Amino acid sequence: MIRQQKVGLERSMMQGMKPSSSVSSLASTDRQDVTLSSLMHYTRRPSATATGPLPQTGRRHEDRLDEKQQKMADADDQLKGPLIPKKKRKKKSLITVNLGGTRYDIIRQMSEKLGYAVAKDDDPNSYLFWNDCFVATDRISEMKSFQRINHFPGMGEITRKDCLARNMAKVQKQLPEDFSFAPKTWILPADHSLLLNYAKDLRAKKKTKTFIIKPSNGAQGHGIQLFRNAEKIPQSEHFIVQEYIDKPLLMDGYKFDLRLYVLVTSCDPLRVFLFDDGLVRLSTEKYLAPTEANISHSFMHLTNYSVNKHNEFYEKGESLSSGSKRSVQFFREYLRQNDINDGLLWQSIGDMIVKTLIVSEPHLLHAYRMCRPGAAPGSDSVCFEVLGFDVLIDRKLRPWLLEVNRSPSFGTDERVDYDIKSALIEDTIRLLNIKISDKSRNMAAQKAEARKRLFRQNKRTDGPDITEYEKKRQSIEKRKEELKETLARIRKVSAREDYENRNRGRFRRIFPPDDKVRHERYVQLLSSTFGIFMSGKAPAMQKEIQRVYNNKLKEVDVMDMLAECEADEKEGKYYTGGTGKPRGPKPPYNTTGKFHYNHSKPLQSMPVSVPSPLENDDEEDEEMEDEETESMSASGSPSMGRHGYHPGKRPGSSGRPDSRLSNDGTSSTFNSRPNSGVGGLRSRPTSNMSAVNQRSRSLSRTGNGKHTPLQRSTVQDDNFLLSVVKEREDELTRKTLVALNEMRIKFPGKSDQEAEYILDKLHENWKFHKPRIASYWLVKLDSIKRRKVIDIVRSNVRAVLLRTWRVSDVDSLKVYRIFNRVFNRLLWSHGQGLWNCFSSSSNATSWEAIFSKSSENICEAELNCCRRIVQLCRDCLLIVYQFAAEAKSSQSNTPHHSSVEDQSSTGQSISARDKSVSLIPPNTQTMSQKYSKLYPTTRTQSMGS
Ligand code: ADP
Repeated sequence: MIRQQKVGLERSMMQGMKPSSSVSSLASTDRQDVTLSSLMHYTRRPSATATGPLPQTGRRHEDRLDEKQQKMADADDQLKGPLIPKKKRKKKSLITVNLGGTRYDIIRQMSEKLGYAVAKDDDPNSYLFWNDCFVATDRISEMKSFQRINHFPGMGEITRKDCLARNMAKVQKQLPEDFSFAPKTWILPADHSLLLNYAKDLRAKKKTKTFIIKPSNGAQGHGIQLFRNAEKIPQSEHFIVQEYIDKPLLMDGYKFDLRLYVLVTSCDPLRVFLFDDGLVRLSTEKYLAPTEANISHSFMHLTNYSVNKHNEFYEKGESLSSGSKRSVQFFREYLRQNDINDGLLWQSIGDMIVKTLIVSEPHLLHAYRMCRPGAAPGSDSVCFEVLGFDVLIDRKLRPWLLEVNRSPSFGTDERVDYDIKSALIEDTIRLLNIKISDKSRNMAAQKAEARKRLFRQNKRTDGPDITEYEKKRQSIEKRKEELKETLARIRKVSAREDYENRNRGRFRRIFPPDDKVRHERYVQLLSSTFGIFMSGKAPAMQKEIQRVYNNKLKEVDVMDMLAECEADEKEGKYYTGGTGKPRGPKPPYNTTGKFHYNHSKPLQSMPVSVPSPLENDDEEDEEMEDEETESMSASGSPSMGRHGYHPGKRPGSSGRPDSRLSNDGTSSTFNSRPNSGVGGLRSRPTSNMSAVNQRSRSLSRTGNGKHTPLQRSTVQDDNFLLSVVKEREDELTRKTLVALNEMRIKFPGKSDQEAEYILDKLHENWKFHKPRIASYWLVKLDSIKRRKVIDIVRSNVRAVLLRTWRVSDVDSLKVYRIFNRVFNRLLWSHGQGLWNCFSSSSNATSWEAIFSKSSENICEAELNCCRRIVQLCRDCLLIVYQFAAEAKSSQSNTPHHSSVEDQSSTGQSISARDKSVSLIPPNTQTMSQKYSKLYPTTRTQSMGS
């Protein structure tokens, strides 16, 4: 509420301020230069000098107009008298956009220009959401597949200055030729001594360099300083130091940088577009090489608009080619006039942008699949992002990447801003290809999937009594289904490309590129970055990259295969496993071209994706309530297993305050905690049942709400089936809880009791360890490593679900989706989510709030499973931390001790550790079995207790 008021206030402030500046700039503008769109922009704004109160925003003003029109129409209707029955006005369906999270009016203007309707700020059912700030992963998990939001999870890995520096340093180490476009950077305070050594080397070579220091998460030039002497740089936390590019290309004697706009429409697979225009931002004091005397002149060395607008010499642009802010198109023309090949420069800028996104891709893909576990690769992405790349050009015409902004300003203070940003936003929204039918198609697909799952319950596809003939028939059916899905995907990809080519406006696709040589190089680089960031899991990902990006299966090929398959079916030639060769695609296809997917091999290293439900164009049931849709999508209907999971004997529990839950799912410790929004959940005794009932309702509903006798019996059957399914699900959830309670985090080389003892010791000396663990988790580990810690628990939880529920697609289980939300929550805000769980205050249970806001009904047993998972993740972090400390101290041959003095290097070695620390139920796997293959002998020996 307060936030909304604030946004409203900001909006009204902007609107109150802007017209005067805009009008004055318009007054002095050459009228012939003013485009139609910019005129629209200037005239549509409410005047600051108008009498009477200003409407809060243009949107609210229009809302009021609508209301007025409605009232007039109603009055009209009343005048016609009671004889004429009042016609119910059918509400026209429109694509709706939720702009509650943005203060930029231009987003509204462009949405409306494209015919979209602006929804209320709290409307959760809009098609498009635009937020100025980054959005929590939870929110992305909750999005329905027809919705779009303008941020990707994981993008912080290139948009935070320290993360960008760390990731760039890693790739630069292995691929220096390709990634030399980022200035040398040190992250403080960790790299302070490296920086001093570098400065010492420079001194020895009698060279001097200037350094620029910036806050890690800063923007708009805040907190930036220049230093000529590296020794004077303070060891501040959360700052980075960069080598200063001291010979920039100048324009009329002024330093400048470029703000370029890049649209990422998908990360699975990666699709990147570069806008053909942007801003040139000039400094306002003539540039001189840095000296002690001028390094504090920010108007000379910084090119930020937010800095230079305070200089009296700042010139507001009257056209795109004058003033302190100009267009990139003007800049390219300027280069051409000076006989400089602007095409070559533009190409190297595009190359730099693609490579930066290649660095981000392992993080993006991992985070995205975590948030959207059921989404098929290649399906429409719910996320997109407009990034602002800040690029400096040096005198040798080399582009340097200064930073990437995930929320570039869409303020339109000057004409150049408006002209460029309005076209950018319009082209962005158009490229997203949002259709009104997306929602109903999505609902129909979910219905089809729910129906499919429901019937899967009853269908037995194997077993001793199934005939050989039936097996063959089923196998060919399955093959046909796969080919049909492949065909549908190929058609979808080519339709998407077709749409993009027709509607890309001023965007040019830079990844995947059309140029074959470039394409191959980028795919190689992608493969390498997955190798760098994913370590052990890289091989499976690299295979997938080849399959996805180098696949050239054509529509006609698949159609041929399908025809052959059908011919075989008619002739009765059935394929059975090993007896013959299946007809159909066989990955990988090692030629470049379009992107096709093969689902026959599920991913192993990334969260597994399941094929999307067959598309159903049935557009009925437009009014189906979203609650029902949600409950349907939440309804996992696993096949039923005969045997539960039988874990080994459980060792005695520890005396720590958060002692584990008992097997029946109750825990006095947890239950006595203050209610943090979960109480409400607990008080819903039949929550799960109601979800099933809702599902049943939505499945059985017909157009007029009445059923024929045949339909009635189907409805009764469905209800019976659903109640059986529900009972079975409850039982399996209880078994899952028992299995989770039996789990222990293993410490390599130590028994369960010893691991338990270590955890107790850490808790006893909590005061000592707390800051060290915080620094280890929140600072030293990057997002991939943090995820790896959580993945230790996640993969074992998956294994439990596989065993307990006996399904192949764990992702489709409701419990797994719930667990996934908890895992995502723990990784929230750079790991802050898990860290909060260590707090002694109610913060420790704040993660439970994710369910209080959600429409998903969570039962007590499910919630207890989640609590156990949180406990396991906490233990896992502690064990990984302790293991890292011990590995470090044994490596440096110092006596082994439990306290951790310095772990500065341990952050780099988690790839080895995460293989070693694992979670297994007792007595199901021995230490030597588990670690002999995974852990290097030397390290295992050093771990001997
Ligand atoms: P912010 O996010 O605060 O704007 P930037 O990294 O974009 O921080 O830096 C602000 C300005 O400082 C840039 O626009 C550029 O003019 C200047 N600058 C930043 N880094 C360098 C560098 N390494 N060499 C030269 N100039 C730089």
